Amino acid sequence: MQEYNINNYLDGVKKIGMCGHIRPDGDCVGSCLGLYTYLKNNYSEIDVDLYLEPIADKFKFLKYSDEIINNADADKEYDLFIVLDCSAIDRIGEFAKYFNSASKTLCIDHHVSNTEFADVNIVYPDYSSASEVVFTLLDREISYDTACALYLGIIHDTGVLKYQSTSAQTMEIAGKLMSKGIPFTDIIDDTFYSKTYVQNQILGRALLESVLFYDGKCIFSVVKKDEFEFYNISSSDLDGIVEQLRITKGVECAIFLYETAPLEYKVSLRSKDLIDVSKIATYFGGGGHKRAAGFCAKGTVYDVINNISEQIELQFEKEQDNI
Ligand code: 5GP
Ligand code: MN
Repeated sequence: MQEYNINNYLDGVKKIGMCGHIRPDGDCVGSCLGLYTYLKNNYSEIDVDLYLEPIADKFKFLKYSDEIINNADADKEYDLFIVLDCSAIDRIGEFAKYFNSASKTLCIDHHVSNTEFADVNIVYPDYSSASEVVFTLLDREISYDTACALYLGIIHDTGVLKYQSTSAQTMEIAGKLMSKGIPFTDIIDDTFYSKTYVQNQILGRALLESVLFYDGKCIFSVVKKDEFEFYNISSSDLDGIVEQLRITKGVECAIFLYETAPLEYKVSLRSKDLIDVSKIATYFGGGGHKRAAGFCAKGTVYDVINNISEQIELQFEKEQDNI
């Protein structure tokens, strides 16, 4: 631990801009607010702005979540612009404007597909989460608020400390964060497991209409645009559906699509032991991790599933050859 230190990048820096990826998830929000609160607590002489697309209500208990700026309307230039939990520059949406005009850029990430797009890239693909990476960069006081945010990020990207990306170090860090007196049970229940009535309805519907294929080794389900309107939901209401598909007995690879525009889908891929879904997502222009990845696809559901299936089959065939 502590190969890098955030302090080393702050010499002479007066204005910092920060952002995470579009459609921010728990790790994105946790790593961003964790670092934001840390900088505000320990470097009060530096002005920090945090940019994110609107975050889910369940994350709004985190300190300073009300200071997050949701648009890139203001003309600002930063001495340092920090991008968190992002594998590629096309994942920061309109905030690229601040990245491009900043004097120096820093990327803090854990995606194996990271393209090293910043001036300095601190990328640990074997770390569970961007929040874990952030923790290892800090050597000053970690407040209760920073601890809440980083713990939340770790919980979300590890599926509550269970995915293969969870290491002994992850558990040690989670323990250190818990020792700050954070409400860890509530963070897990209220932000990870708890679902609203409509979230449960859409989950139920997605499971009911899921389709097993490839001898039961793969499963997919789709949520169409008209269902978004019918249930009055947004994409963050679909969190957890792909994880539920993944744990179907016998399934190695789960695919979940939701329609973002006519003939356009956001694809989430998850696997258990064999398939490297980051390779598949990268092949289709996206990215992610070995066991969790995603991309945006164009075409009919039939086309999208067919194209993904081909790539899955190729990996299964290679697996067979290696036996
Ligand atoms: P999810 O399926 O939860 O949206 O994403 C799973 C993982 O894949 C996350 O780490 C996320 O950052 C990454 N990912 C999802 N969609 C995309 C995408 O369109 N492009 C890239 N580069 N990564 C993605
Ligand atoms: Mn992450």
